[in-house]
Amino acid sequence: MSDDISRDVFVRIQTDLLVINDSIMTDRHHASNGNYEDNDPQNQIGGIIPAFSLSGWLRHGMEKVIQQRGGTACHPGEATANFRKDGVYNRDLDAGYHSKGECLEDDDSNGCVIFDLFGGFGNRPGKMMRRPIKFTPVRSSVDYTRGQAEGHYRRLNRNVVSRNEDDNREPLRNVELDAVANLDGCWHLSFRETKPEFIALLAEAIDFLDEHQMDFMHQLGGARNFGGGIVDCHLVNPLYEEHELRRVFDRGKENTNKMAEKDERWENEYCPTFESALTERVEEAP
Ligand SMILES: [Zn+2]
Repeated sequence: MSDDISRDVFVRIQTDLLVINDSIMTDRHHASNGNYEDNDPQNQIGGIIPAFSLSGWLRHGMEKVIQQRGGTACHPGEATANFRKDGVYNRDLDAGYHSKGECLEDDDSNGCVIFDLFGGFGNRPGKMMRRPIKFTPVRSSVDYTRGQAEGHYRRLNRNVVSRNEDDNREPLRNVELDAVANLDGCWHLSFRETKPEFIALLAEAIDFLDEHQMDFMHQLGGARNFGGGIVDCHLVNPLYEEHELRRVFDRGKENTNKMAEKDERWENEYCPTFESALTERVEEAP
């Protein structure tokens, strides 16, 4: 059944405000032609949201799913690292984590399902590649089938002002933030190998993150105290073909009957099978 699923899957991500601290890469330099103004609303600036924050956000969701199923998840930090907060690391290990790579029994073993997906110990690649999201404000040029999004880049300025009345709110410090507003698009994930438990874990983690979008711990990126990173997300039905994937983002069109049939088949046939593969894998984990 997992043979029916392509190696490429897409997660729809919608958020009003995303702040990835200073790591959003924009194409403002070549878009500007020398007269670029940061805060000109006419800017047609696109860019790239690197996958690091997205990956951490997804991984945390996946860890929760494994823990809810009674398993332990690979800790993201190397067991041999010199953690500045040893006590905190050890508390993690007591709260549903095992140390990274502990699940590898021998050289041929795949480790736990989190390790299998994310890799990173002893030079092993994870089996899930997380790509950056390319965004542009021009909706007609967004190619959703290539993991792109509509999004509006803004440079935000925050002034920290003096609290002393005599200073008349004199700025003490200016902070600039890169932000993407009204993001709506696809995050493209590629499996190097498609296993049923991978798909189940991804689907369940995306549901979990969507349900916990108001939970500080499961918001994405920075500025979370200010409403940044509240993400609506769902896994686009992996049975969809490209034209159907595009249709999901077409506000003028409804889903076709064929898409509805695929949704039903996905819910009733595929998900249960994949979920039992995940149950088995979590149960037999060391
Ligand atoms: Zn592990």
